[in-house]
Amino acid sequence: MTGTALFDLFERLTSLMRVWNRQHPLLADLQPIQVSALLYLARCNHYSNTPLAVTEYLGLTKGTVSQSLKALEGKGLIVKAQDPRDKRSVHLELTAPALDLVAAIAPPAFLTEALAQMGDQAVQLERLFGTLLRTIQRNQDVPGFGLCHSCRFHEQRDGQPFCGLTQEPLAPAAIELICREHQPLDKAG
Ligand code: SF4
Repeated sequence: MTGTALFDLFERLTSLMRVWNRQHPLLADLQPIQVSALLYLARCNHYSNTPLAVTEYLGLTKGTVSQSLKALEGKGLIVKAQDPRDKRSVHLELTAPALDLVAAIAPPAFLTEALAQMGDQAVQLERLFGTLLRTIQRNQDVPGFGLCHSCRFHEQRDGQPFCGLTQEPLAPAAIELICREHQPLDKAG
């Protein structure tokens, strides 16, 4: 298997996504990078909502991301909050209009409709894409940004989720969020 056909499929799907974003009436005033930053911030945990984490996740330059975050702040879609334990650190939080916007666009209807039509195959597809992503991340040594429940530091203490890395309890809903510190179960050290 050369990967050409799969690569073509990814290219086609990502270009369809770009077209969909460009044509969506709710996204008319937002650039694609701003939409990506909003979607990430809506899905990441409280360790991962910093400007640096957004930059790492999107794989873009600090300057580009900084301009985009400034624009989102200007549009009233994100606010900065100082970290209570580290005054030099800033967290980015979505405002109520941004949360409404994300809820209206993600996941897009064309995707949920297609997945519903695929039935059990959609479940297999999600699992296989997850395996593919983890394999690429492991081979290329790129930042994890995985879901908390699949992290090797994820624990249960007193029946509650707990982070073995930060030694802090986690909110139950946080285990479904993206974390920049995530490490897969099969990663040593
Ligand atoms: S358990 Fe892993 S993914 Fe979850 S918060 Fe801790 S480091 Fe992040």
